[in-house]
Amino acid sequence: SGNRNLFGIHDSLKELAQLADTAGLKVVGSTYQRLEHPSPKTYISSGKVVEVQTAVRALNVETVIFDDEISPGQLRNLEKTLGKQVRVCDRTALILDIFSQRAATREATLQVDLAQTDYQLPRLTQMWSHLERQAGGMVKGMGEKQIEVDKRILRSRIASLKRELESVRSHRQQYRDRRAAVPIPVISLVGYTNAGKSTLLNKLSGADVLAEDRLFATLDPITKRVELPNGKVCLFTDTVGFIQKLPTQLVAAFRATLEEISDSSLILHVVDISHPMAEQQIKAVEGVLDELEVEHIPSLCIWNKVDKARDPAIMKAEAKRRSNVVCISALTGEGMQDFYDAIESKLKDLLVWIEAVVP
Ligand code: GDP
Repeated sequence: SGNRNLFGIHDSLKELAQLADTAGLKVVGSTYQRLEHPSPKTYISSGKVVEVQTAVRALNVETVIFDDEISPGQLRNLEKTLGKQVRVCDRTALILDIFSQRAATREATLQVDLAQTDYQLPRLTQMWSHLERQAGGMVKGMGEKQIEVDKRILRSRIASLKRELESVRSHRQQYRDRRAAVPIPVISLVGYTNAGKSTLLNKLSGADVLAEDRLFATLDPITKRVELPNGKVCLFTDTVGFIQKLPTQLVAAFRATLEEISDSSLILHVVDISHPMAEQQIKAVEGVLDELEVEHIPSLCIWNKVDKARDPAIMKAEAKRRSNVVCISALTGEGMQDFYDAIESKLKDLLVWIEAVVP
């Protein structure tokens, strides 16, 4: 891994293993190499390729995943060396796979489809040279023509996906406009994947939102109507979980979904405070929020999973010292009173409150 990120190599690889598990793969081993520059041909050095090749044979490996994005050329060379029974891919392709397995709404499906097609476009060449190799010299040149045809097909597919997305979104915009006409505050839950957003939403609404100890259990935004203890009603929206090195194609594709966050009255940044990488995860989420330009919206930091924290007493004391932090356990319900108090006081400063309960 040529890791230039917040996460160290080991933590990033651990997360990659978790992602692979989420995608339904069984991880049998991992390795890394520190290089001044990645090898242009195979990303890792030729010596390392041999090492990987040996491990692949010994362990009967079917898939090799790189933590950083590898170029189409590198992919081709790696596949050539490792053999065609081995699938080589990168973190981006893996994340796209997971998203595609889990997309539930029409919009999410379209978005993932668009991101995948976009990702495939520069990688077409490799598919065809692969076929040419198999068929020998016979089809030489045919591949090139075919690549052009395929590229045209992919481009027109991208265009039609964009059009369809546009129409799905304009529907949703109308729905949002109607919603905005009724002054119910919308509260967005954001956070690193697995921080406990779905669990919190369940706790708040008594609803049965899928909560899993897996990355990206939540793909489509879910909105629940919640009555606060003071009788006021608001809408809580659970957005897609963030992760470091989120593929750019996906950020672009999910932009509209994420932009819903900019329409909210309050942003709750949910953090798994028991996680050893909590600080880096906070930074990764803040990075995406910066991009969405939502700093004008009031926000509150929710330190979740305090029941699991190494030293809950210190955590709670630290949260109390900070004005914008509430310490809770969405699982045990601990701290929920503080949570409601904090939200009610945030919202009090804010909006025209509706007195009536709106259907
Ligand atoms: P999301 O990806 O942010 O929606 O996270 P989930 O709500 O799916 O939660 C991820 C995992 O963390 C699940 O296994 C939850 O049961 C667990 N979890 C969530 N909140 C808490 C908490 O307060 N304490 C503990 N111990 N586990 C929690």
